[in-house]
Amino acid sequence: MSVYDEIMILDCPYCGGPGVLEEEHGWSWYVVCADCGAQGGFIEYKGEEDRLEAAKKAAFVWNQGKARNPKPSD
Ligand SMILES: [Zn+2]
Repeated sequence: MSVYDEIMILDCPYCGGPGVLEEEHGWSWYVVCADCGAQGGFIEYKGEEDRLEAAKKAAFVWNQGKARNPKPSD
C-alpha cells in the first residue's frame, strides 16, 4: 500500500478542486490544489521512518482548511 492510498485528502477549501499530495525533493510534503493552486504547509521529514508521518501531517493540515489562498484579495 502506498502513501497515496493510505491518506485521505479533502477538496480545496477555496474552490472545491482536488487536493494533491506532493513530495518536495525527498525532504517534505505539502498539498496543493490542482485547480487554483492553493497550498498547504510544508511538512519536513528526516528519513524513511518519519516520511509517512510527515505525509499524514501535511494532509491533516490541509484537511483542517489551513491552506494559503492564492488570491488573497478574494
Ligand atoms: Zn482550489
